Order: sequence, then structure tokens, then C-alpha cells
Amino acid sequence: MTHTLHGLVIRETAVKEQDKFLTVLTAELGKISVYCHGARSVKSRHIAAAQLFCYNEFVITSRGDTYTLKEAVLQDNFYALRNSFERLALAQYVVEVLGEMTSECEDCGALLRLALNTLYALSYTDKPEAIIKAAFELRAISEEGFMPDLGVCAGCGEMAEVMYLDVMNGHLICGGCAEEVDPAAMAARGTNFILLNVGPDVLEGMRYVLRAPLGRLFSFSMNEHDLADFTVVCERYFVNHMERSFKTLEFYNSLR
Ligand SMILES: [Zn+2]
Repeated sequence: MTHTLHGLVIRETAVKEQDKFLTVLTAELGKISVYCHGARSVKSRHIAAAQLFCYNEFVITSRGDTYTLKEAVLQDNFYALRNSFERLALAQYVVEVLGEMTSECEDCGALLRLALNTLYALSYTDKPEAIIKAAFELRAISEEGFMPDLGVCAGCGEMAEVMYLDVMNGHLICGGCAEEVDPAAMAARGTNFILLNVGPDVLEGMRYVLRAPLGRLFSFSMNEHDLADFTVVCERYFVNHMERSFKTLEFYNSLR
């Protein structure tokens, strides 16, 4: 069976002398592995498109779960990523995350659009990396089913001057209600209990990321102090719900 579809190359693996496996994120088929005969040969007509970060129109054939590349027409390779070591490292984190998230995605199209918007922002705009990274993490983990409830305190239903994000439960707790929580009792129940202070502007930034249209996802700003907090809150929330660490994230953070 032949399929024509669009997809983003999120991983490449060398096979044999001249061949490659590409892991491709598509809207229609989710994450698929595509075998590319001869794609590592300099003579291959697929050499430009059969690369990491390439967004292509693919023609592939399938036999069972095996997909083979017939044609790949490059739409964008986000080439400008290579102009910045930090931005390239961040893009590598983005695609590692996608590889981890999308095995059973319900709406792979939403994740694919998020990925393309993120790579576009990293390649073609001067939007701050910290904004791009944090907004990607928060939006991606929400797509994965862990959207935090950022309305009001989950204990008393009010807003207060001091608010915390209860990371594992994905909701807000006010300063007053937080005092009534007994950390020892939570630990005894085996709950990985983390409260992170979120100031009003950090909270507003998080709410923006959850509701913004994708094309405007990174179009907001924060002062330096709030942005530092926002970065920490989004990364902690993301990593805790993914329940794993990422080598590419550790590498990116080691550059900072
Ligand atoms: Zn409360």
C-alpha cells in the first residue's frame, strides 16, 4: 500500500553501509519508522530530505508495520538551527521529547504542529530560548493529558497573594491551604509532593501558554526574574509528569 503524507524526521539511525531508518512524526499515522535504501550515499536523491529536523512530503509503501521510502520532497529543514549551538541543542531536546511522547498519541497532528512551530521559532525568530523551551514543555505535557488546572486554589476555591503549583496533582494551592498540608503525611502515602511558588506574572504566562493559538505560542514576554521562575516551574512540571530525564535536556542545561 502506498501513502502520501507530511512528516517531521525526529530521529535517524544508520543501517548497513548506505541505508537509514528515519523515525518520522506524522499527523496521519503517528510515529513511524521508515526504511530508506541508499540514503547515506552521496549519490542518493534523498540525501537532503532524509535528515534529522527535515519536514517533508513523503511517499512511502507499507507492508504490515514496515514502511519504505519511495520519495521525499523537502518542505523545510530548519537549516538556521545550525547557526546557534544552544538553539541546535534545544531542538535536539524537542525531537527527543517527541520520540518519547508520540508512541500512542491520540492527536499526533497537534503534537506535529507544536513541533513545527517550536522549530520554526528556534530557527527563524529571535524569541528568547527560555520562553520557547518552557512554552514547548508546558504545551507538550498538556497534549499528553497532564494539563494543569490554573484556575483557583484547589483547597478553598480562592486566589491569594501567595500561590503554589502542586506539581504532581496539577493544580494550585494558596499559601493558607499549603500551611495545612502535612508533608510528612504526604510522604507516608508515597506521594511525590512538590509545591512551587508561582508569582502572578508567572501564572499569567502559564495560562497564556495553555490557551494561545499555536502561531502565537511564544509571543509573550516576562521580566528576567519571572522568566527564571517560569523556566524552573515548566521544566519541573514537565519532567515530573514524563517520569524520566532526558540526556538532551541535561546537555542543553549544561550549556547555560
Ligand atoms: Zn486555598
